[in-house]
Amino acid sequence: MRFASIGSGSEGNGTLIQAPNQPAVLVDCGFSAREALSRMADFGIAAEDIAAILVTHEHTDHIKGVARLANRCRIPVFTTWGTWAAKLNGVLDGALFHMITPHEDFQVAGMKVQPVAVPHDAREPCQFVMEHAGHRLGLLSDVGSVTPHMLDCYADCHALMLECNHDLAMLAEGPYPASLKRRVSGPLGHLNNQQSADMLSQLDQSGLQHLVVAHISQKNNHPDLAVEALLDKGRCSESIIRLATQNSGLDWLSVQATENRS
Ligand SMILES: [Zn+2]
Ligand SMILES: [Zn+2]
Repeated sequence: MRFASIGSGSEGNGTLIQAPNQPAVLVDCGFSAREALSRMADFGIAAEDIAAILVTHEHTDHIKGVARLANRCRIPVFTTWGTWAAKLNGVLDGALFHMITPHEDFQVAGMKVQPVAVPHDAREPCQFVMEHAGHRLGLLSDVGSVTPHMLDCYADCHALMLECNHDLAMLAEGPYPASLKRRVSGPLGHLNNQQSADMLSQLDQSGLQHLVVAHISQKNNHPDLAVEALLDKGRCSESIIRLATQNSGLDWLSVQATENRS
């Protein structure tokens, strides 16, 4: 299984995941359809290579190009009823809508997908753990707090894309109005570096091959601060840390077989 980011941050998100000899899956499309196609082309993926779009929630940086890309290229969209009702109802061709619930796994493009209900200020947000041949890739962003359920779901990933949205001090001193600062740092907002590192420290990292720092705020964080927290409080090995950026995302990474996994 391999994955890549076509861009990560508050200006737009998209993650490609592909099992061997299968079409790819796109998780979120926070870019216009045209820009998403251009970005995906940089990773060798065309619209006809996409088996499905999975949508985590209805915020613009995740859903902007979903309906247009899906309608134009006839790509099925998998998302919760709440996300569909918020932004896709009446816009997405109904024949392309596949409703999922955070309580049931589903299969797509050779992978098992486990939706994970998360606390975020959207109608019915969920994040995903993708699994192929015993390899697990966790995608986690847009989360205001870490719940016991999340710790369970992301317990034994081989690769993890983890939101490190803001540094608390930079957010406090930064340009956002007070109400937005409260929203971002609140229990339904986004994870700060320390929260992400603290969550990571509670996970079994023995099989972890890649830790991708994702959804970094360009105004309220610096990659060095996120990495520092992950190394220090998160007890993460420096050699496995990668950065997904807003402009260029992150090139393909493979999740390899390991000995002691089923
Ligand atoms: Zn977001
Ligand atoms: Zn969001």
